[in-house]
Amino acid sequence: MATREVENIFADILERAKAVDPVNTRKWFEKLTVLHLNGGSLEIGCPDEATLQFLRDNCKSSFTRAAQQITGHLVTVDFNVEQRKRLLRRSRRRESELRLHPDYTFDNFVVGPSNRLAQASCVAVSQSPGNTYNPLFLYGNSGLGKTHLLYAVCCEAKQKSDKAVIQFLSCEDFVNRFIRAIEEGNLASFQNQFRAVDMLVIDDVQFLREREQSQEEFFHTFNTLYSNGKQIILSADSPPGKIPSLEERLISRFNWGLVTRIDPPSYETRVAIIQKKAHLRGLSICDEIAEYIARKVHANIRELEGALTTIYAVATTTGKQITLELAQRALEGQIESAARHISITDIIEVVTNHFDVRLADLQSKKRSQSITEPRQICMYLARNLTKHSLEEIGGHLGGRDHTTVMHACSKIGETKSCDPKMDALLGELTRRITYAPQR
Ligand code: ADP
Ligand code: MG
Repeated sequence: MATREVENIFADILERAKAVDPVNTRKWFEKLTVLHLNGGSLEIGCPDEATLQFLRDNCKSSFTRAAQQITGHLVTVDFNVEQRKRLLRRSRRRESELRLHPDYTFDNFVVGPSNRLAQASCVAVSQSPGNTYNPLFLYGNSGLGKTHLLYAVCCEAKQKSDKAVIQFLSCEDFVNRFIRAIEEGNLASFQNQFRAVDMLVIDDVQFLREREQSQEEFFHTFNTLYSNGKQIILSADSPPGKIPSLEERLISRFNWGLVTRIDPPSYETRVAIIQKKAHLRGLSICDEIAEYIARKVHANIRELEGALTTIYAVATTTGKQITLELAQRALEGQIESAARHISITDIIEVVTNHFDVRLADLQSKKRSQSITEPRQICMYLARNLTKHSLEEIGGHLGGRDHTTVMHACSKIGETKSCDPKMDALLGELTRRITYAPQR
């Protein structure tokens, strides 16, 4: 096919993919290129590893659908970092498994009175890891930007020094990897992995459990890194002294550096965040609409984004311009649907009944097939039938982190598409959940 023809087809696919999945559409999609298109396979080029991960995790099915609709035949879609960077990427990947999110940068973080100190300390740490505030401890309620800032520090530190070895993981991941290392008799390699880094970033440390060996291990990791002048950054939902499961010796260590709080954003900050998020998705919304959303949603930025997504999705599916009236109607619709919304508890109830397992098993660390499958199905259904974030879904199922939930969703999604039995089971469970008496 002629280059121009391929480019035209790709432009159509891109437009269609945006319509198929407005939630995951980003402004930077405009920078995607087509690396290869023929014989039923489409390879899409993107600028770096972080966007590659985002596309692979979130956009594969929407691009596949779009490509099939536009070309009229089956197309497999894959993404790749543009050719000229591929070699570099390969060597980088071996150095670290760091997975960053392309949206979570300092540039995309709106600074206001509620988060100024936290943001400034994160910037300082990213410029000079180990030498400013060590450890740096961020705390605040859910949805106020802790994870975003942690990613931004890693992204900036990595840009400044490509060789820096950075480990970023949720506390739950740390604990799980520790348990696995013990089970597999690999403790030494686990210790090497975490004690030899330049920067260790652990999100949501309130999930460190009391009197567990993992807390002891974390204590030693902390001491080793700290005494070698390596940077440690932590986040939690409360200050160190208020985390019930935390041992005294860890509380005192966490207080050695800087403990900084993030508060709920002011009205002006909320307006600015909505504008930022709209821009990131390639939307332009007028001040009036941003102000309307900011007045309606107060406490949590994740919900602010959710409101924007709802408005965007309503506009795309109805093919209408985003006006104040449309925004009002869309959000009122959201309130209506919230009144009869499906909760994760509804889902868990139907799934545990069907598989005859207990909730406690789903929340436990058990990894036998008979427990893992219902757990993953719960995650998949919660992702598809509720508006909860990956983090929140993981939280209901034993405090698992968002990558675990993401993995479960793609695994079940894949099984569904090639196994009719799974497809039928998911259909039946969904039917029961939707008809279950609402709380
Ligand atoms: P937390 O980890 O505190 O629960 P997150 O970092 O996951 O919260 O933030 C939730 C959402 O809100 C993310 O999409 C994040 O990008 C967004 N967000 C939070 N604070 C800001 C901010 N100041 N500017 C832009 N986006 C923000
Ligand atoms: Mg978080």
